[in-house]
Amino acid sequence: MTLATAQGHDRDHWQALAVAARARLESRLFIDGRFVDAARGGRFQSINPATGAPLAEVSAGTAEDIDLAVAAARRAFRSGAWSKLPPRRRMDILYRFAALVDEHAEQLAVLETLDMGKPIADVVAGDLPAVIETIRFMAECIDKIEGAVTNTESGVVHMILREPLGVVGAISPWNYPLLMAVWKIAPALAAGNTVVLKPAEQAPLSCLRLAELFMEAGGPAGGFNVVNGLGEVAGKALALHNDVAKVSFTGSTEVGKLILQYAGQSNMKRVALECGGKSPQVFMGDLPDLGAAVTAAYRGIFSNMGEVCNAGSRILVERGIYGEFIERFVAEGEHAYVPGDPLDPATTMGPLVTREAQQRVLGLIETGRKEGAKLRFGGGVPRNAGAGSFVSPTLFTDVRSDMTIARQEIFGPVAAVMPFAGVDEAIRIANDTIYGLAAGVWTRDVNTAFRLVREIEAGVVWINCFDEGDMTQPFGGWKQSGNARDKCFESVVSYTQTKSAWLRLAAQP
Ligand code: NAD
Repeated sequence: MTLATAQGHDRDHWQALAVAARARLESRLFIDGRFVDAARGGRFQSINPATGAPLAEVSAGTAEDIDLAVAAARRAFRSGAWSKLPPRRRMDILYRFAALVDEHAEQLAVLETLDMGKPIADVVAGDLPAVIETIRFMAECIDKIEGAVTNTESGVVHMILREPLGVVGAISPWNYPLLMAVWKIAPALAAGNTVVLKPAEQAPLSCLRLAELFMEAGGPAGGFNVVNGLGEVAGKALALHNDVAKVSFTGSTEVGKLILQYAGQSNMKRVALECGGKSPQVFMGDLPDLGAAVTAAYRGIFSNMGEVCNAGSRILVERGIYGEFIERFVAEGEHAYVPGDPLDPATTMGPLVTREAQQRVLGLIETGRKEGAKLRFGGGVPRNAGAGSFVSPTLFTDVRSDMTIARQEIFGPVAAVMPFAGVDEAIRIANDTIYGLAAGVWTRDVNTAFRLVREIEAGVVWINCFDEGDMTQPFGGWKQSGNARDKCFESVVSYTQTKSAWLRLAAQP
């Protein structure tokens, strides 16, 4: 059953698939091409956030398991079974890998929804197509990676070769469990490296299946290993490991800073960071279409429950349209996303990932109230929440840049609308943050648009749209949002290193 057939299922069908997926759930570690228990036998519980019920007992890897996985990855790398395959053979295997993800789309979608609470319709229409496209794009890049011959004196040939790094450690978050992992794994593998992945403990299941599919596609044992476990145990051991050449991390800014320290404390491994955000959307008074702008504003913060690194969480609206903008936001945005059973394809908003996440977001909403922001709707737990960790879509207006809800990454469905007067003030507020991941600017005037694009400190700026892109778009942040770029061709190149080969030709008689 492929992604195309999965589009048509109703709730009963998805629930039946969920029962089937749970019956054959694999929750051990995937090391050297097979599932194994954690060396110390530890396990942790994965909870279904929609119901609060236990979902699986997952093997909890420790430093010993990381050692085993890195050793397997190193053996696979050194054997050349992957790194030295002819490029087109490696491409074939990655294309087959993408096809297998498509063939197992239903199972992967169900695991993602049960584990993390994401609406099944979003997984099927958004996450999985993007996962498949990422693998295919990175496969296409393989034989496009080129070295260079530089312009030297005539008695010399100087070649700059590009070679894989070795073992790549990937540490991923839970908000798009498969996609964020694949943004690392696919370019790393494409460049000829082998991988050890430590998924987030809140959503540990789907990536285990992914690693198995890579093997089924023809990948070598040890090429792609998955060690679940707690961040401060398994993640830390991976980032500290002396045989890991690069650690590619997506997650919070706080942990990103620790990863840099671990690299310094161990082997100076390369560190790629994709971290948090507090992205502004700037709505100028002359924007072309207020309806489209308001829709983009609430979608930008309520989709995926607001658990999006580049969520448009700061909504800056010029004073001339402020009243009308808010009126439309309240009228259309309050009921656009209704929390419900994420296995129902009609549901647009699932629970937050854990009870702790729910409590943290509710705490920040309370802080917003106390600091004087105006609560326009939401602000609590929906009536039908049961034991699920739901939070209602929430709108605050009259937010100031110094308020906690304008500064801290909430990672929940909480919109903060802030008024401004003129483009200078918009730029000042937009940049008044430690983050610099993304931004949206809305204006009819091309001069204003480009002034905002030039002045806003962010890795991506959308003009008169939000959260769009394709695989050619470098995705990553400025400032404390990180230092890496995912998705694009440069991403594959970042998993290689140069080797300079300097050849002196024999002197000609
Ligand atoms: P997190 O930082 O808590 O965890 C991310 C990963 O790091 C997890 O696998 C976790 O187990 C691991 N980890 C935790 N402590 C660790 C430690 N001491 N050593 C090594 N690894 C450790 O983040 P999260 O809550 O899973 O994800 C949400 C965050 O991710 C948000 O800040 C969000 O903005 C960010 N994010 C960024 C992007 C991007 O592309 N910039 C994309 C998605 C999410």
